[in-house]
Amino acid sequence: MSINLRNLIPVLEAEWIGLHTAIFVDHVSIDSRSLQNGSQTLFFALSGVNNDAHLYISELIDKGVQSFVVQYVPDNCKGRANFLIVKDTLKALQEFAAYYRNLFDFPVIGLTGSNGKTIVKEWLNFLLSPDFNVIRSPKSYNSQVGVPLSVIAINEKHNLGIFEAGISTVNEMINLEKIIKPTIGVLTNIGSAHDEGFLNLEQKINEKLRLFKDSALVVYQKNEIVDLCLAAFVKENQLKGQVLFSWSFTDKSATVFILKKESKNDKTQIEYQYKNEIFNLEIPFQDSASIENAISCLLVLLYFKYDFATIQNRMQMLYPVEMRLEVKNGINNCSIIDDSYSSDFQSLKIALDFLESQKKNASKTVILSDIFQSGFSNEELYSKVAQLIADNKINRVIGIGNTISSFSDKFSNAVVFASTADFIANFESLNFANETILIKGARSFQFEEIVTLLEEKTHETILEINLNSISHNLNFFKSKLGSNVKMMVMVKAFGYGNGGLEIAKLLEHHKVDYLGVAFADEGISLKSGGIKLPIMVLNPESTSFPSIIQYQLEPEIYSIKGLNAFLKIAREKNLKDFPVHIKLDTGMHRLGFEENTIDELIATLKGNSTIRIQSILSHLATSDDKDHFEFVRSQIRLFEKLSSKLMTELGVNPIRHILNTSGISNFPDAQFNMVRLGIGLYGVSNDAAEQKFLENVGTLKSIISQVRTIPSGDSVGYGRRFMATKETKIATIPIGYADGISRLWGNGVGYVIVKNQKAAIVGSVCMDMLMIDVSEIDCKEGDSVIIFGENPTVTEIANALKTIPYEILTSISQRVKRVFFR
Ligand SMILES: *Cc1c(COP(=O)(O)O)cnc(C)c1O
Repeated sequence: MSINLRNLIPVLEAEWIGLHTAIFVDHVSIDSRSLQNGSQTLFFALSGVNNDAHLYISELIDKGVQSFVVQYVPDNCKGRANFLIVKDTLKALQEFAAYYRNLFDFPVIGLTGSNGKTIVKEWLNFLLSPDFNVIRSPKSYNSQVGVPLSVIAINEKHNLGIFEAGISTVNEMINLEKIIKPTIGVLTNIGSAHDEGFLNLEQKINEKLRLFKDSALVVYQKNEIVDLCLAAFVKENQLKGQVLFSWSFTDKSATVFILKKESKNDKTQIEYQYKNEIFNLEIPFQDSASIENAISCLLVLLYFKYDFATIQNRMQMLYPVEMRLEVKNGINNCSIIDDSYSSDFQSLKIALDFLESQKKNASKTVILSDIFQSGFSNEELYSKVAQLIADNKINRVIGIGNTISSFSDKFSNAVVFASTADFIANFESLNFANETILIKGARSFQFEEIVTLLEEKTHETILEINLNSISHNLNFFKSKLGSNVKMMVMVKAFGYGNGGLEIAKLLEHHKVDYLGVAFADEGISLKSGGIKLPIMVLNPESTSFPSIIQYQLEPEIYSIKGLNAFLKIAREKNLKDFPVHIKLDTGMHRLGFEENTIDELIATLKGNSTIRIQSILSHLATSDDKDHFEFVRSQIRLFEKLSSKLMTELGVNPIRHILNTSGISNFPDAQFNMVRLGIGLYGVSNDAAEQKFLENVGTLKSIISQVRTIPSGDSVGYGRRFMATKETKIATIPIGYADGISRLWGNGVGYVIVKNQKAAIVGSVCMDMLMIDVSEIDCKEGDSVIIFGENPTVTEIANALKTIPYEILTSISQRVKRVFFR
């Protein structure tokens, strides 16, 4: 793309405040963190309730970006760049995408539905790519923001588009339709997902159908409601010549009627009737969702008039789709980002942004296969790839494949191999250590073998952390804050068991103001991991003061003794204005200056320039308990009184803060200048109504190690505490009390989830294992087991064990591997 900025003025109905008369852009960005932002970038400053990209414009100008679409020009940016001023930058992004889409004229498949969109998109791409240069939405970019970004990636060489559209409520599809303008529509499974946003099923279907307003063809599973909605839709929009291509297991009048499906050995034979002829098809899956998704693809292939043999041939090679980027721990302190199933230019850009935001090691490596169907000539393509690699400051590139090998001289830092096998043969000599590695390859290169080699080998239990949910929860609490109230996030105890450094990195991206840890060690490991945010240490021992100073951590000072000890060291080091946090005890009686020590505190601090009071804080004892709200108010009043006294007598104006998570929810008028968010970030609320707005963050998963059937009368486990009263199928799971599963959760009290069904824990929980009753569940060795997550929740487990979610979360031991994804 190369677009004259001036041409966009009428398209976006924008006001222009610019430097140059003609400026061309070839790249669109909404992410201020991306290293790909450069002089040819057009940056759309989106502004959400909680995150306003206008704040980053000045920084971006410093980095060389010259063109912005904005809602206002920030004061410090006037006269420094080109600005297109619009009412709503998100709308402008969508209008730009619609304008851009109209510059191209080729078939575009638009997918919508409640489930299966991304899989059908990936499969259609796989099935059609031998014959087309396909542009498709990366991952599941299907939102009001994701769709425009996907469409903007079209270039002159593409001749087929596949885009998905996801909506959550009425009147959203109309925007997406204008941007995608599909000529072929595919309606995937209409489940019950996102039902909250709609009055009923009809309303949901009607909204989705709007995507097909200008489609010549609609593919869908025939059923009464959809048929009725479609008939009304055709009539309402006075559509002519729209072809309806339907399929059904039960209705012979469908375009494709499925006569038979038979699953065996992970494969399914499908017999279908089309135009009065009967055909057979085999797909390598046996679950019903995959079968439905494969049939949707079949209909598109039939519409494209593929012959029966080609269809059969390609469909038997369908594969499971990995829909998200995962960060995994690798060997030798590497971390790896697994994107081993796709390689195209657009998704490379996205993966590089993800690499930058998630890198745990300063050194970045990319393992990249040949890239297919970019639409560019190889010469052009690898020049662009090399540029991208350089822009992203990648330290080493490992290219695998004949084509990328022949262009290795374009890269300044590439090692190349003709094949994955070649790479594996030379694996040892590559000495992977202390680097963050992005693994990105086309399917045919089987990069999953590389992932296996690089992955740290641990046992099969993992705690999966959803980074998007953390962002969601953070924004939920941010939205409750007054406009100038700062946010400190507590990441003590390894981020409440969820992973300290990874979460701190995410919080740094979200520009929270402070982090809080319990001990100096925790702060040191965050600073050593590259965290720049200021970090408050709640409970600094005096032996740790030197390292607190060395690592620029900020101690909480809670006693005269501690104050004097810190002052002594600070003076020895000739410090000036070193930031400290003064903790007041207002009723918690844990740490803090009590009212009767305030005068001495003031006397000690008066005229002191060695340290500076960065903040004054206190902690509430009962912010989650309605019966004690009066006590909370007395704490807040005392805090106001004592902190005011300190401020007046010392003539200082520090940040003041007292609210923890439930304080934020229950005492909105006591936010002072900052709040301290803890458990809420991790998706737990003690208020059932609020819990509905939070997203689950951690899912503790394991697998079945062994399955056996025991006769009635036999026992299971230590102490024979479970006795079978009938023939019972028992499965063993490799997780025990040493991993943090309480023994109180055993012996029939607790359960795990296998194949969406509850399986009771039978007998005593062992150190490293536990046993469950799976008599009623069709399962086998290697099947996945969920210990907690959305069901059961940690809150449910905590209630049953008469404790609190905090304890359950922080008990999960460090030997359980944490896997982060978004
Ligand atoms: C842990 C902690 C918090 C956070 O509490 P949550 O209930 O998890 O929100 C806030 N302040 C202090 C001093 C803490 O120790």
